[in-house]
Amino acid sequence: DLAMYNVKNRGKNDFEFYNINMRNKLSKEMLVKALKEDELELYYQPKVNGLTGDITGMESLLRWNHPEKGFISPVEFIPIAEETGLIISIGEWVLKKACEQTKRWNLMTNSTLVIAVNISNIQFRKVDFIEMIKRVLKESGLNPKYLELEITESVAVNNEEEVIKKLIMLKRLGVSVAIDDFGTGYSSLSYLQKLPIDTLKIDKVFVDDIVKDDTIAKMIINMAKNLEISVIAEGVEREDQLNQLLKIGCESIQGYLFSKPLSTEKFEELLIKEQQIKINQ
Ligand code: C2E
Ligand code: MG
Ligand code: MG
Ligand code: MG
Repeated sequence: DLAMYNVKNRGKNDFEFYNINMRNKLSKEMLVKALKEDELELYYQPKVNGLTGDITGMESLLRWNHPEKGFISPVEFIPIAEETGLIISIGEWVLKKACEQTKRWNLMTNSTLVIAVNISNIQFRKVDFIEMIKRVLKESGLNPKYLELEITESVAVNNEEEVIKKLIMLKRLGVSVAIDDFGTGYSSLSYLQKLPIDTLKIDKVFVDDIVKDDTIAKMIINMAKNLEISVIAEGVEREDQLNQLLKIGCESIQGYLFSKPLSTEKFEELLIKEQQIKINQ
């Protein structure tokens, strides 16, 4: 029966395999070239205190400007980088760039900005992950207290003990850890309690209709308060969402309401402008 199935479906399957392989092959070469030829660029989105408007830090977000295809979204190419293993070199490149830039900005504006860097599960699971973090911190000279790693809930699914060990090592280094897209995975309270993390990042889906229904956001905020960790909301686009978040106890926000992700140059302009305003106050 299986043989029959294979014969009957071979045409279709071959076609599908062909397409998937072609796409991966092309993309892998394209990604290698992208790394080599500086087609990748880091953008930065401010994280702000929703009460004061002060910038407290920023999230680095990867951009790919392909010479012919134009802009390619990280949603499209990160999965390919993960499938091909290229995420390891790309991820280290991102971390290094982000740390160097943050060190520069903190010196330049005499600030204590914290950089949040997205970390793929594949990166986190590598045995030398902590070594890589240490290496980049040393090379960039950034104080570890200004580095935050954003990981997802799915990181700890299989090898819980290994994950906890690594999180403890990060804590010892002085690096903080946030759970990104929180609420979309399947973390239970008891599971969360075991993880030495610093921040829960409320996923945009719960911010989207928070004005109509704030049940989930409220639950996450209360959970964070009980665990004595901080909370931030992502994808805040409107004033009424901000007001609702402030009302239920979430002050830290990120989203288009304050700013879209910006190029290095534009982000720097924003920092300088903010500094001028402070000086003039
Ligand atoms: P994420 O880490 O959850 O990042 C938030 C995404 O929401 C970003 O999309 C950001 O541009 C977008 N965003 C922020 N505020 C708003 C808003 O108010 N409205 C809307 N509609 N969107 C908003 P982006 O830059 O396209 O990145 C998508 C995802 O790609 C990220 O989700 C992250 O999972 C991944 N990613 C990006 N850069 C990196 C990276 O350097 N390494 C890894 N491993 N993943 C990355
Ligand atoms: Mg993130
Ligand atoms: Mg997120
Ligand atoms: Mg998200």
